[in-house]
Amino acid sequence: MGPATLRLVSGVGLKGPACFVIEADGRRIMLDLGEGPPPGLLPDIDGLAPIDALVLSHGHKDHVGGMALLARLGNPPVYATDVVARALPKGFNIRPLPVGGTGDVLGIAVTTGRNGHAPGGVWLHFAVAGGLLYTGDFSAESMLYAYDAPATTASTALLDCSYALHDRPLAQCWNDLKPLAERGPLLLPVPANGRGPEIALELSRRGFANDIHIDDAMRDALRLLCDGARTSLRNGIAGEIARLADTAKPIEEARGIMVAASADGTSGATARLLQEWERQAEPAIVFTGYVPPDTPAQRLVKSGRAQFVRWNVHPRISDIVRLAQAVKPKTIIPAFCDRTHLTGLAQTLAPARVTMDQMVEL
Ligand SMILES: [Zn+2]
Repeated sequence: MGPATLRLVSGVGLKGPACFVIEADGRRIMLDLGEGPPPGLLPDIDGLAPIDALVLSHGHKDHVGGMALLARLGNPPVYATDVVARALPKGFNIRPLPVGGTGDVLGIAVTTGRNGHAPGGVWLHFAVAGGLLYTGDFSAESMLYAYDAPATTASTALLDCSYALHDRPLAQCWNDLKPLAERGPLLLPVPANGRGPEIALELSRRGFANDIHIDDAMRDALRLLCDGARTSLRNGIAGEIARLADTAKPIEEARGIMVAASADGTSGATARLLQEWERQAEPAIVFTGYVPPDTPAQRLVKSGRAQFVRWNVHPRISDIVRLAQAVKPKTIIPAFCDRTHLTGLAQTLAPARVTMDQMVEL
């Protein structure tokens, strides 16, 4: 048995598409294969040898959007949970992953748990070289998506550090958004398979139930959540979600609180609505997630036409510290944040060794 390694192909050192390769016991397993967040940005796979399997953490574009590259990697089988697999383009050799529990990838034992972040989304623990935990994206705070905190020890942890040292709780996000919701017509561009349903749920709970307008993508996402993706929900809220899917009004003009996809305005209903409303005073436009370069979202925030109010869908640093205390990794690789945060994260996560080196020995 040779040394086991983890190659950080993309997604560490900057906010880019997720793509990592585990090499252990003679097998090469890729974790996620994304595109973006800046539209068109793909992992650089030049020089990578063919892989034996691709394992997907969740269905967001920056984790699965690069799958057209699989043809250049030997067209390996793709391991995904049922909800994630069903949303992929057809033609891949899909193998099942549990939403919570144990399975195996090419004979390596894998434990998964719900990631509190997306329908069908999971973190993954691989039984290789002292244990490797890959969280994909996760959130410990979601009011909508259930989160199973990882508890098995792992000597190496590749962790979602999208927010680096940020530590404001989700409750504060609502405090920032509330006055804007009260003021009048408001457009919230969101990912329908991410924080969109969560924001709509919170609005409905906080007295805005009769004022919520959604696009078709949001309605489909809400229906999926109380049907096929129900296992990803927190206990006891499927009824609330079903009601929301049935009662939220369609978006016809600038009225009420409008929750629509996509999050960056490059596609979906928001692409059209932003174009229509960019030069008008109303409605207010608020982006709540990462604002990628070269998108309508960035243009509108830069010009002052739109505001940015963060809605947490990634872990706060206190959530990451708590996870590290449970999993006890010797090495932590912070993913999805800029390299400038390395020193601060290393101080906070000591005594673990914190690295962004492209090749990590497991
Ligand atoms: Zn995500």
